[in-house]
Amino acid sequence: MTTIHTLGFPRIGKNRELKFALEKFWRGEIDADTLEATGRELRARHWQLQADAGLDFVSVGDFAYYDQVLNHIQLLGCEPARFGFTGQETELARYFTQARGVASAAKPCCGGHAETGDQGPRALEMTKWFDTNYHYLVPEFTADTVFRLASERLFNEVREAQALGHKLKVTLLGPLTFLFLGKEKAAGFDRLSLLDQLLPVYGEILVRLKNQGVEWVQMDEPILCLDLPPAWKAAFEPAYNRLNAAGIKILLATYFGALDDNAVLACTLPVAGLHIDAVRAPQQLTTVLDRLPHYKVLSLGAIDGRNIWRADLDQTLAWVAAAHAKLGDRLWIAPSCSLQHVPVDLAGEDKLDPELRAWLAFAVQKLNELGALKLALDQDIGAADLAYANAFGASRAAAATRRTSPRVHNPAVAARLAALPQDADRRATPFKTRQAKQRARFNLPAFPTTTIGSFPQTKEIRAARAAFKRGELSAADYTEAIQREIKLAVDKQVSLGLDVLVHGEAERNDMVEYFGEQLAGFAFTRNGWVQSYGSRCVKPPVIYGDVSRPTPMTVDWTVYAQSLTSLPMKGMLTGPVTILQWSFVRDDQPRSDTALQIALAIRDEVADLEAAGIGIIQIDEPAIREGLPLRRGDWQDYLAWAGRAFRISASGVRDETQIHTHMCYSEFNDILPAIAALDADVITIETSRSDMELLRGFGDFKYPNEIGPGVYDIHSPRVPSSAEMTRLLKKAAEVVPPENIWVNPDCGLKTRAWPETEAALANMVQAAREMRAAQ
Ligand code: GLN
Ligand code: ZN
Repeated sequence: MTTIHTLGFPRIGKNRELKFALEKFWRGEIDADTLEATGRELRARHWQLQADAGLDFVSVGDFAYYDQVLNHIQLLGCEPARFGFTGQETELARYFTQARGVASAAKPCCGGHAETGDQGPRALEMTKWFDTNYHYLVPEFTADTVFRLASERLFNEVREAQALGHKLKVTLLGPLTFLFLGKEKAAGFDRLSLLDQLLPVYGEILVRLKNQGVEWVQMDEPILCLDLPPAWKAAFEPAYNRLNAAGIKILLATYFGALDDNAVLACTLPVAGLHIDAVRAPQQLTTVLDRLPHYKVLSLGAIDGRNIWRADLDQTLAWVAAAHAKLGDRLWIAPSCSLQHVPVDLAGEDKLDPELRAWLAFAVQKLNELGALKLALDQDIGAADLAYANAFGASRAAAATRRTSPRVHNPAVAARLAALPQDADRRATPFKTRQAKQRARFNLPAFPTTTIGSFPQTKEIRAARAAFKRGELSAADYTEAIQREIKLAVDKQVSLGLDVLVHGEAERNDMVEYFGEQLAGFAFTRNGWVQSYGSRCVKPPVIYGDVSRPTPMTVDWTVYAQSLTSLPMKGMLTGPVTILQWSFVRDDQPRSDTALQIALAIRDEVADLEAAGIGIIQIDEPAIREGLPLRRGDWQDYLAWAGRAFRISASGVRDETQIHTHMCYSEFNDILPAIAALDADVITIETSRSDMELLRGFGDFKYPNEIGPGVYDIHSPRVPSSAEMTRLLKKAAEVVPPENIWVNPDCGLKTRAWPETEAALANMVQAAREMRAAQ
């Protein structure tokens, strides 16, 4: 019999019950017991779903109130000393203190930087989980870090599942991945040196689980799909030798990519089984089948855990059956990775077009796909053959309609892409020529000031948008409400003395959703939420078909804003790579093709803005860096198509039209040639918190175009003085040519309130004036 299981299940609940319970708890509206009751209920419900789908184990250990890595920090007793816990706090209180800090909620803007509180300990840093949009809390290590088994939570959850009569598998983050994901908080110290002290605690956990009657533990070591330093590779074998001594069966789980150079290592580690991601990296199956010792189980990640498409079961069965022929009962099947990266349940998506809906599978549906594959493999189709036939029939029908549906395939888009000249991604003349013409056109002062796009999203704006969506506000009233906000933002910018203005993005709920809603080929779910971090969930658009732009998306608002002032108004767009990166993407064509289609749609918008007299257009690409593949060997290819997509969107304009781009973060040093190759006339980046250090790379690289290094942190309500900003600008002027420097905040201001925004911008304008005076 084939074993089916999952590496993890979403914990937020299909109606985001966990989110709402957490937020109530944080506001003091419910107590810890009530929160814990919600957690218990969700676990019970999710286990039942897994059992109902016929899974051989339910997954225990994948639940977390905020983040699974933080769970491990508590389990392993390595809460950073800087939090100063006295031992009087409850486990849950310490948990949320580390997740959120004390003074303020952790709110990353776009890339995962936490909001900076003014008092109390800083929350643990947050960063992206491999190449997903999930953020984990970063463990902090020093030479003084000690580990001890410090939480009963996991063992209690095992008991809970057992009491409900489930057969279970426990999932743990493996010791090497846990250390690897952490950060060294002291110089001259290597966190790998902590492994020796960490392993006994893992050993203790495994023995405890064994004594509880647990047969299998899944140890997640996804770092085996990365380019690992040799010392880390070498650490695996001795570490797993020690863990194996606990006498419990370990399934070593790898995902998000191919094992490649770690394949032999992963196959031969002294564990009872190996899970590989055969969706992301099907090519590794042959090697693994060759190399896997005969006593080991192979768990095939055969259902896509990162995307929302219904599996083509016939196709999947074909290659899974080949593995089955070789492995027999040693074959397990599972989603490629934890299902936490997909929404919970498709049931309830009654607003979706039925044809499109039939193409999708969320977590619950993916469990059922495993069940259908199992039945097919085991030929055990007697009693359940109807369900089996239905699952395969529906999958076959979906695959067929997706292949031919006019909803998906728009010949005009294909024709346009095919006819696109090779140099469609080049501006007509080199930067220097354009720069001269743009300087003549705009006549801006030295150190021109601008902002990144959004202004405070006040309660009134949100209310107006929501009322309009619900149909309670007429289109005319809505337009008027937004225009009022635009006028307010423009008036404030004029009186502040800014040089290049923006309309403020009041009409946008989200920088991707706003465009997705207006582009063909995109769909939006009602409840397709995925946890981003803590209680924060995102509902990524679904790109299901060829992308095109039926009508202009931003021109009216921008033209209205421009009509209010003679100063240049900067048009504001989201770039193709970011739209792609923050959506669920088609799996029936390469990501690069989808990126190019979006690029053409944005190019059309750029052309319309230009034709409407908008001379400066910003194309935001905050997600370019996070799109980098996990393996360096794949970077060049990605950077080539991502860069081409950006340039296609940006290059259809006259020399006199100035293209800006914006990226949060500036940790670009390893990809500076690709950033320069985007050839944006101006790039704005986030630099203030690095004290301009991050700009040095641009200087050393002799970055040729103009650049706006952020001079103040927008994550905090703190108002920086003009002296602080002048100091940063002077530092900037030492590393890049002063005549190329723009003056702007780190990022958009939508999470801020107006009072601090105005005060900070007034100081920023003052700082620019001081720089000009000193020239
Ligand atoms: N233009 C966007 C804004 O200002 C940019 C946001 C981002 O970089 N994530 O909000
Ligand atoms: Zn930004």
